[in-house]
Order: sequence, then C-alpha cells, then structure tokens
Amino acid sequence: MTRIAFYPGSFDPITNGHVGIVRRGLRLFDRVIIGLLQNHSKTPLFDLERRKELIEAVFAGDDAVEVRVFSGLMVEAAIDAGAIAVLRGLRGVADFDYELQLSTMNKRLAPRLETVFLMTEAEHFHVSSKLVREVAKLGGDVTGVVPKVVDDALRVHFQKG
Ligand code: ADP
Repeated sequence: MTRIAFYPGSFDPITNGHVGIVRRGLRLFDRVIIGLLQNHSKTPLFDLERRKELIEAVFAGDDAVEVRVFSGLMVEAAIDAGAIAVLRGLRGVADFDYELQLSTMNKRLAPRLETVFLMTEAEHFHVSSKLVREVAKLGGDVTGVVPKVVDDALRVHFQKG
C-alpha cells in the first residue's frame, strides 16, 4: 500500500517552512500530494498557475511529490487523492488554536482521515507566506527564507511594480 499524505495550503508563495514540512513528511509517507487551494475570496500575490509552477519547480525530479489544485472541502480533496492523512505544520500557539479547530471539524467530516502535525524547524519558526510577501514588497532580502526560484520570481514581480 502506498501511504499518501495530503498537504493543503495557499502557498502564496511556497516558503522554506513549507518545503521542510514536505521533506520531513516524506520520511513518514511514501508520497506527499500538495493541495493548492483555489480561494476566490483572496487576491493572491501570485495567481494559481504561477504558484503551481513554482511548487513544481521546487520539487522537480522528485516523483514522490505532486501538486493538485483543489477547491471545496479539503477532506474530500484529500480522500480523492487517496490520502490516509492530512499533513500540517505548526509554528506556535497562534497556529495551534486554529489547527485544533480545523482538525476537529475535519475529523467529524471524515473520521478515517488523520491529521499529522509536524512542528516547524527552529529556523523556519518566523517564516510565513504573508511576511515574505510584505518584506519582498518593501524590497527586503528573503534569501534563504524561500527557495531560489521563488526569490527570483519575487524580484521580477516587484521590479515590474
Ligand atoms: P501560510 O500560513 O504561511 O500562509 P499556508 O496557508 O500555505 O501558509 O499553510 C499551509 C500549511 O503550512 C499550514 O499547516 C501552515 O501551518 C504550514 N506552514 C506555513 N509556514 C510554515 C513554517 N514556516 N513552518 C512550518 N509550517 C508552516
């Protein structure tokens, strides 16, 4: 049996915090399917296609990682993907509250689907997509916080204005 984990998020953009969760998830699962949320209510920095391209570029050549766009109920997308678990990262108490609510609701919706939490690596504790967007917008250096392809994409995006 192939043990698949579904890792959902908006990944706008993917950061090294996310990459760490995927890589460590691969030590527990045979495959990680990254679920890219199509969220119509938010205006993203990068559109869905660009976010997908960037994630695929980061994991190019790694057959154990796949990106799938989803909308609607996350647990349905996870089950459709053949996942036995949802993978989530935790940075601290701020994440914990929301993640507890989410996982409790998801358990009601899909009792057989477990949520597996990995604590962030110390060096990624402060990293969020939101912070990356804000710092990059103001011309700050995000080298080492995001993968190189994302760093390049941010520079191009904000140079164009
Ligand atoms: P963000 O919260 O940065 O906007 P997402 O909505 O894409 O990111 O989050 C997807 C998942 O990745 C969530 O479980 C979130 O807690 C986790 N995550 C985000 N950033 C980090 C990080 N720096 N370290 C560990 N997990 C993270």
